Amino acid sequence: MRDVEVRLGRTRALAGVDLVVGAGERVAVVGSSGAGKSTLLRLLTGAVRPATGTVEVLGRDLAGLPPRELRRLRARVGTVHQHLDLVGALRVVHDVNAGRLGTWPTWRAALSLLRPQGVPEVAAALAEVGLADRLYDRTDRLSGGQQQRVAVARVLLQQPDLVLADEPASALDPALTDRTMVLLRDVAERRGGTLLASLHDPAVALRHCTRVVGLEQGRVVLDAPVPALTAAD
Ligand code: ADP
Ligand code: ADP
Repeated sequence: MRDVEVRLGRTRALAGVDLVVGAGERVAVVGSSGAGKSTLLRLLTGAVRPATGTVEVLGRDLAGLPPRELRRLRARVGTVHQHLDLVGALRVVHDVNAGRLGTWPTWRAALSLLRPQGVPEVAAALAEVGLADRLYDRTDRLSGGQQQRVAVARVLLQQPDLVLADEPASALDPALTDRTMVLLRDVAERRGGTLLASLHDPAVALRHCTRVVGLEQGRVVLDAPVPALTAAD
């Protein structure tokens, strides 16, 4: 991102943001509520557009990217949202299977992609997040934490080059938080890829990330490698 400013209504959600993240980095985005963490992650899916400045994702400038190219790019970006974009009335198996599309599921897309031979892979992804027995449950009947894990299973199936996780652990207890972070790290690492996660717990950021970016009122106020932070405490 180069000199990015984002306005949402009358709010300047981000201002003067310069950020270069290299392949293989695991970046924790930290900051209080309203600091701009979600906005920063949403910029990278093209869901939010900058008022000024440029945003490049996986080597492509998002401005003026034709819809087809944008879709192709998004297929390489895995997202775990705070506001889950799971399709509630679907069965878990369909929601996870949508990972193959590389995008959030629509009814039609999620259903059309489910081939019988795909089920074992979906089941394996669900087993990794500890939901092996929930394959045929309705997603909206699961708890918040379970839904979050369904979203992680979807990313496991998608195998993206870039993982964007917005408070991926907000509804999880400490043990599950660590487990989830390890899974997201693994997805990114398997592809030599990158992880950006907004995290409210600094300890989680230090345990699982290589770099911490701090936001305050839409500005980057901290950008440091984790070893430097732990050394200085
Ligand atoms: P965080 O993820 O750090 O909590 P956000 O990126 O969600 O922060 O929000 C950054 C700022 O933008 C906040 O001041 C928030 O109130 C504002 N904001 C977020 N979404 C909208 C919106 N749709 N319309 C207007 N303001 C918004
Ligand atoms: P939200 O789901 O946070 O309310 P919107 O519905 O405003 O976001 O989405 C705006 C646009 O962002 C959508 O039309 C879609 O193109 C894109 N978008 C939403 N969710 C995702 C996602 N998970 N991955 C990629 N793009 C998304």
